[in-house]
Amino acid sequence: MRMTATHCVKCGSELPRGAPGRPSRFCSEGCKASAEAEMRRLNTHLRNLEARRAAQVFGPDPERERRRYDAPIAELQARYDHLAGVPASTTKGTAP
Ligand SMILES: [Zn+2]
Repeated sequence: MRMTATHCVKCGSELPRGAPGRPSRFCSEGCKASAEAEMRRLNTHLRNLEARRAAQVFGPDPERERRRYDAPIAELQARYDHLAGVPASTTKGTAP
């Protein structure tokens, strides 16, 4: 199974090949810095959403209120995982 990234996870441009060692996920220092900044922002949003979801304990159907946060959280988490370089196969098949 090949897990070598061929395109920059930030801007999508093709990555130069041939360098030995761990392949880079970024085409440039700029994309690396920008992706790291985006990941910090995503992390802040994720922390806030998860805290808000956890706070849904009152009302007639708190479980339903909590589930409303699942899709936006999954969306942000998927973007984070993409930037972080999590292999696609591990981001799928979470609990049904
Ligand atoms: Zn790039």
